[in-house]
Amino acid sequence: MKLKFYNSLGNELQEFVPLRDDRVSIYTCGPTVYDYAHIGNMRTYVSEDILVRTLEALGYNVERAMNITDVGHLTDDGDEGDDKMLLGAQREKKTVWEIADYYTEAFFKDFDALKLKRPTIIEKATDHIDDYVNFIGKLEDKGYTYQAGGNVYYDVSKFPNYTELNRLSLEDLKVGARDDVVVDKNKKNPFDFVLWFTQSRFENQQMRWKTKYGEGYPGWHLECSVIAMNAFGPRMDIHCGGVDHIATHHTNEIAQSEAYTGEKWVNYWWHAEWLIDKQGKMSKSRGEFLSLDYLKSQGYEPMDYKYFLLGSHYRRQLMFTFEGLDGAKEAYSKLKTRCLALDPPVETDAYYDEFLSQLANDLNTANALTVLYKCLNDKELSSGEKAFALARMDEVLQLGLFEEKELELGLKEKIEAMVEERNQAKLEKDYAKADKIRDELIAMGVSIKDSKDGTTWALN
Ligand code: AMP
Ligand code: ZN
Repeated sequence: MKLKFYNSLGNELQEFVPLRDDRVSIYTCGPTVYDYAHIGNMRTYVSEDILVRTLEALGYNVERAMNITDVGHLTDDGDEGDDKMLLGAQREKKTVWEIADYYTEAFFKDFDALKLKRPTIIEKATDHIDDYVNFIGKLEDKGYTYQAGGNVYYDVSKFPNYTELNRLSLEDLKVGARDDVVVDKNKKNPFDFVLWFTQSRFENQQMRWKTKYGEGYPGWHLECSVIAMNAFGPRMDIHCGGVDHIATHHTNEIAQSEAYTGEKWVNYWWHAEWLIDKQGKMSKSRGEFLSLDYLKSQGYEPMDYKYFLLGSHYRRQLMFTFEGLDGAKEAYSKLKTRCLALDPPVETDAYYDEFLSQLANDLNTANALTVLYKCLNDKELSSGEKAFALARMDEVLQLGLFEEKELELGLKEKIEAMVEERNQAKLEKDYAKADKIRDELIAMGVSIKDSKDGTTWALN
């Protein structure tokens, strides 16, 4: 079975052909660690995980690299606005280094909670300063850079294919250069971008390194080109990110990487659409945003949110509402209850190819879920065969369909004591007390069943 997905480079659905037989190299832009990830960010990582696991299910050996942006990302994706890390540090009265460590850990907590496979290579932007200096040196030797006002710039006019990915004209880009920010007067063209800053516009910039280009820090786009090439060499298969990265970040990554190597860098550019809410695109710099922890505090588990996401296509904008999440929570809970009630697995091939073919067709998770339900409702299959087929599907979707709820420490003992107390009350014909305890158990999510052999209980 062949995988087809939408390539932003070329702007069409394409069949995936890797550079090397059965090995796939994927690079995904990582988080900027100045705040918690919002649930929109996590939508992109969930979609990327489906891509990785679909490739694996199709028999490929996937190597994946990701950066952690702990320096250089300004609130504008170009070179304007405030330094995001510094904003985080000022907000919390900590150093940028402390902020980076704290939010990197928080990010991976969310990553794990959503059952996403960690990339094989994870690199911090600040660990590669020497590599950036060497990279800039080569671009300089090839005539792609200029220095002005103390900074080193990439000269976009030297790279004729600059707009191949974003399909904008240079005129569009000029118009798009925002007028609410002062465009750096040192730039020859407004869309030239900084490779190395020394004339920091941020007096308090804490992250700075002494290099032959002066004491300063790298432009944001460099890290992805350098970390990706360190991992995979001059060419790779797939580069992923959210659609917000197409216009500037990925366009600049291509310009500097292909100037550096002199050849085509990435064959497939894969982009996930936004999660939006009533105010538009969810973004960290907007101030208030929803995190996975917040959803938890409101009674939603990470898997409820993941189920909500998988019901829609990664290339469509998705509107987040709590009504939508309630629907997903209910459907997920029913699905899981049915899965847990199935018999022990009995091997079968039923439905797996149909399921996988939906994913192979531009990662259609909603249709893949439809196949999963079709299998579950099939009257011809035994309960054990359904268990086997669904568990195999869940290896790709990772919804934890067969995971029993972990009992909190001491909860089992507490429930058993309450069940015992209720039985005692019944023996003493104190039915009011027995009913009260039963209601308390139900409120705790425990269902009880009385039979002639005694009382059994289960967590919902
Ligand atoms: P950041 O931490 O802002 O650098 O973003 C991390 C990832 O989340 C990038 O791939 C972004 O493109 C993606 N992203 C940012 N905002 C959203 C959103 N509202 N919906 C989906 N993905 C997003
Ligand atoms: Zn990137």
